[in-house]
Amino acid sequence: MRKTIIAGNWKMNKTASEAVELANAIKAAASGTTDVDIVVCPAYVCLAAVAEVLKGSNVKVGAQDLHWEAKGAYTGKISVEMLKSVGVEYVLVGHSEQRTYFNETDETVNKKTKAALDGGLTPIVCIGETLEEREQNKTNNVVETQTKGAYAGLTAEQARNTVIAYEPVWAIGTGLTATAEQAQEVHDFIRNNVLKSIFDDETAASLRIQYGGSMKGSNAKELLEQTDIDGGLIGGASLKAEDFKGIFAYQ
Ligand code: PEP
Repeated sequence: MRKTIIAGNWKMNKTASEAVELANAIKAAASGTTDVDIVVCPAYVCLAAVAEVLKGSNVKVGAQDLHWEAKGAYTGKISVEMLKSVGVEYVLVGHSEQRTYFNETDETVNKKTKAALDGGLTPIVCIGETLEEREQNKTNNVVETQTKGAYAGLTAEQARNTVIAYEPVWAIGTGLTATAEQAQEVHDFIRNNVLKSIFDDETAASLRIQYGGSMKGSNAKELLEQTDIDGGLIGGASLKAEDFKGIFAYQ
């Protein structure tokens, strides 16, 4: 009932011409795939060119961040309308690299999530614990606080138009992957404890929760077959079409 969603986060990689080349290769690799939603998130400066390549295809375009204000004196920032004007449909919010390096807080994640929804973009809300927090048995507390922060003031209907990406920070870009059991345990907690308590059973059951953290072709199937894992947010393995295909064509 929940359609698998695989999103590639290209981070600060690829020039405009490289991004167009990768988009063309992913479009070809994804042609005919109908059972999985596929999204790529290039850098801002490549969004328009990548969207042009992917227009009319089954690969959608996402941005890696946004600003919650509609316009004005916010040097360096990008609004929802700007993203939509070049064909963007999804946006990452609260990625751990934003939280760690650029002062992203649960409050700014909440503002960005609301702005994305108000403007008609689908936010992919990223949450996850650090290694230190996991070792101190704080994983559940952390994901609960981050989820409650991100969704504060949202209606159940709005929440259903979002995607969550559970990304243990210690597994991002490190080659360390949470085991399928570790990931499933947290996904289950997010869905059946946190989302049910904030919203309702139906919303909790319908909201898609991706796993992120060194997902690749060799571990995708096992992770994606878990009951509460509905997709993946992929960094490193989204930068080559054949690696990315190894994930979205996991079945
Ligand atoms: C990410 O950046 O969201 C991510 C999961 O990266 P990687 O796949 O490289 O660990």
